[in-house]
Parts: sequence; structure tokens; C-alpha cells
Amino acid sequence: MTTGIPSWSGEEGARRARELFREAFGTPPDGVWGAPGRVNLIGEHVDYNGGTCLPIALPHRTYVALRRREDRVVRLVSADADPSRWEGSLDDVRPDGDIPSWVGYAAGPAWSLGQEGAYLGGFDAAISSCVPWGAGLSSSAAIECAMALALDETYDLGLGGDTEGRSRLSAACVRAENDVVGAPTGGMDQAAALLTEEGHALLLDTLDGSLTQVPFDLGAVGLALLVMDTRAKHALNDGQYAARRATCEAVAAREGVATLRELDDPAAVLARLTDPVEQQRVRHVVSEIERVATFVDLLKAGEYDALGPVLDASHTSLRDDYEVSCDELDVAVETARATGALGARMTGGGFGGSAIALTPVDKVDAITAAVAAAFDERGWNPPQFLVALAAAPGGRVD
Ligand code: ADP
Ligand code: MG
Repeated sequence: MTTGIPSWSGEEGARRARELFREAFGTPPDGVWGAPGRVNLIGEHVDYNGGTCLPIALPHRTYVALRRREDRVVRLVSADADPSRWEGSLDDVRPDGDIPSWVGYAAGPAWSLGQEGAYLGGFDAAISSCVPWGAGLSSSAAIECAMALALDETYDLGLGGDTEGRSRLSAACVRAENDVVGAPTGGMDQAAALLTEEGHALLLDTLDGSLTQVPFDLGAVGLALLVMDTRAKHALNDGQYAARRATCEAVAAREGVATLRELDDPAAVLARLTDPVEQQRVRHVVSEIERVATFVDLLKAGEYDALGPVLDASHTSLRDDYEVSCDELDVAVETARATGALGARMTGGGFGGSAIALTPVDKVDAITAAVAAAFDERGWNPPQFLVALAAAPGGRVD
């Protein structure tokens, strides 16, 4: 692929974060940690319905160079934020604190870990990232998780070394985003950043919390996963998300279950629903949960060619029943399919952000060219692309 959002090697990320740290604070950091963005293969808008999702970690990471302090001062610098520097006290970082939102993402994990009783003091941190913001690739979890790993090690919390500890770090990052930033997030992004294995997708069951590593190596079969960032951002305001979530929760409550996943006979419930909007929303959730299971079975059986139609069906369901797609996502998906992709769908919350296409490797360039041309014709911002590999989870890089 000729163009694409570049990812940095661990060495390059560490070098950039270290340099920024030295420029900002004049001394070396205690270390550098990185955590990846993610892309969800399938299982969209089911995390708050007890469903399953299947993200992979991206090679694109956010790097944090951090040094522990013995007082409660927090100093942050991010190459990408504007203004790029913030200085305050650990006590300013809290749900009703008056802090810029990027500071909530960066320092929020310190608040939630402290809430759990971990001893944490202040810190200086420099943040450098190659995860695009707001592309639906979870730059938010990348920054939270890189910070959480850095704090875990510099404050000897002992959580980063195993799955159980990492699950606690992940939960702390979710709480930071929910409570300090005030953004709804279900937990998939943080789990992807901390709990995936390289070369695997993470099957995350939000009902029982179980995690299953599913081998995902498209290169071995001549395929690629192309991520198409539409660079469109429509009002994914909390209203849209909250309304869908409320509809799902209301139907579940009426049926006497905590989540739609737990419906005994989803088909019978669907047949009973008279409200057309409720019908659409529940149909998406129930069918998407089935599609994740089908997708995982096909992956395990090595039937990669059969994955395409499952992705296509997911897109149709998100577009028509859940109504969270938009023109840019639809055009990217349709153009990719028309140019040789086996299947394509929007990924992430919707109303903009990214779509994915499963494609033979030798079609990648043609698809990126065709999608770019389709956007150009419509006068839209040029889309950006990357080829996703199932990369490693977050950890110390230097
Ligand atoms: P996404 O997670 O899809 O990229 P979000 O809106 O959830 O989009 O999170 C993006 C926000 O996360 C940014 O607006 C910013 O506040 C914060 N953020 C992400 N990366 C960085 C970074 N490198 N430096 C500072 N803030 C960041
Ligand atoms: Mg996010």
C-alpha cells in the first residue's frame, strides 16, 4: 500500500516520548510504556447488551514516558493536544474536576486506581501517539492504558504482569473514561489494549467477562484487513447512543432479563414486539450476537472466504436496523466490495469513524484508490487507510 497512517516501531515511539519528556521536564523519565488502538472485527453495539465482540490490537500505539514524583503535582505534555501542556494537582483529577478533557483521559486512570485504594502520588508524563483521534480506533483507551501501565510499574501496584491484574487496570481505565471524562464506554477498547495476544483477536464476552484468544493471521492466507478512516464525524452525541441503549434495556427489563443476550427465546420476543423501532434495535442486537459466534467458528475452521458475507450482514444490520451508519461509511463499504473486497462493514460506534474491509492482499491498492476517488467525487475529506495486523497488547517499551 502506497499511502497509509504510519505506525511507529516501539523504538521510535519510545524515542519520541523520551525526547518530548526531556524537552518538557529537563530530565529522563523512569521508563516508557505503550498501548495500542484497536479495531473491532465484529460485534458492534452489543457490549452493553451482554454480547460478545472481537477486537484486535493495532500496531498503532500511544507512548507515555513517565516519571514518578514524591509530591502530588501532575504535569502532562502531549504532542497532539492543544494547548499541549497541563499542570495541576492529583486532587484536580476527579469526576467533577475542572480539567481539559484530554487530561481526563490521560490522568483519569490515576484517579480510579487511587479510588481502589492504590497509593499513587504525582507524576510527570509526556505522551506521543500515532493512533488517530476520533477515527473509531480508540485513541482514548490507548492513552488511558499506556498511562495505567506506566503508573502500575512506577508505583509498584503489581497489576501489569498477569491477566487478572491487567483486567483490573482495564476496569480502572473504563471508570476513568466513564466517570472522569464522562464518556460512555463499554470496556471492549481497554480490554483490547491490555489483554489481546499478538496474532490473535480477543473474543470478549461481556456477560460472563470471559476472554478467549482466537488466532487471526490473515497474511498466511493472502488476505488483509484494510481499515478505512472516513474522517467524518457526525453527531455521535450521547443522545444517539443513550437512546439506543435505553431501548435495549427497556425491552430486556420488560422481558425480565438483565440484558438482551439473556433472552430465552429471542425469536419469540422479536415476533411479539409491536414498536417498529424496538423491533429494529433488538433484531440488530440478537442477530449481531449470532454473527459473532458464526464469525469465530469460521475463523477457527480456517474458512476465511466465508467471513465476507458475515461482515456484510453486520453492516446492513447496523445501517438499517440500528441506524448508526452514515453516507461516508456506506460509500466506503460499498466501494470496497465493488473493488474486490470479500466483505466490509462499519466498525466502532458509527456516525463516522472507520470501516473495515476483508480483502485479498493484491486488491488493497485498488480499493484505497477507489474509495479515495469516491470521496473526492462527493467533495468529502480524503479518507485515510491502514492495513491492520493483530499486534501485541500494551506494555513497557523502554
Ligand atoms: P477515539 O477513541 O475513537 O479515538 P475518543 O473521542 O473516544 O475517540 O477519544 C479521543 C480523545 O482522547 C481525544 O479528543 C483526546 O481528548 C484524548 N486523546 C487521545 N489520544 C491522545 C493523545 N495522544 N494526547 C492527548 N489526548 C489524547
Ligand atoms: Mg474512544
